[in-house]
Amino acid sequence: MRILILSDIHANLEALEACLAAAPAHDRVFNLGDIVGYGANPNEVTERARTLGDVFVRGNHDKACTDLISLEGFNPIAGLAALWTRQQLRPESFDFLRRLPEGPVLPLPGVQCVHGSPRDEDEYVLMRREAFSILAHVEFPVTFFGHTHVQGGFWIDDSQESEGAIEMTYKSPEGIQQFKLELSAAGKYLINPGSVGQPRDGDPRAAFAAYDTDKRSVIFYRVPYDIEKAQKKIFAAGLPERLAIRLEEGR
Ligand code: ZN
Repeated sequence: MRILILSDIHANLEALEACLAAAPAHDRVFNLGDIVGYGANPNEVTERARTLGDVFVRGNHDKACTDLISLEGFNPIAGLAALWTRQQLRPESFDFLRRLPEGPVLPLPGVQCVHGSPRDEDEYVLMRREAFSILAHVEFPVTFFGHTHVQGGFWIDDSQESEGAIEMTYKSPEGIQQFKLELSAAGKYLINPGSVGQPRDGDPRAAFAAYDTDKRSVIFYRVPYDIEKAQKKIFAAGLPERLAIRLEEGR
């Protein structure tokens, strides 16, 4: 089975469409949350994500934009974007986002999907130390996670004697690029497809991944998209300017 893994689309329609145009043939779509928040097309992106996906977990922005949590923990810019999104969401989008399930969600044997981490849906797994404390206890060979907007991940050997980070080495910083990871049968993996709509790993190209369960491989993708168009919409919407500027920085 071939599965498209999308995360952190953040209402960026241009980035989502570019990813879908570049995506390989696939049987299913897993969505790791934060469908909205930050970007200027929350309804369009929610509708597209809803028709595409068959497995979802909710993100912290999906919760904040549908009144499931307060905005207290959000920085002012994220808070303003959540308030704006809340006002824009049509009832059907609002209801869909509000009903997204909390992770972990178990779509296949040996695979779980979370937004932040298996132990806390809002945890940021950025550092090796956190990743390995999770991997040491996790029972599933493959965990897909998002939330950090950093493409890559972490692995640990079954014996727990060796471990490492999965870091991308793309041939070029331009154009559509792929990076293939072969999954070892004797390992456990935390895999982040990266953020479709607001990358923060220094590469402004939209990010996603494709998982082939038969070949036991994950292919990471980076895809250029019309950043300027997405930025113009953010400015026109009156959203904080920083949200537009950071798209071209990939930060
Ligand atoms: Zn996010």
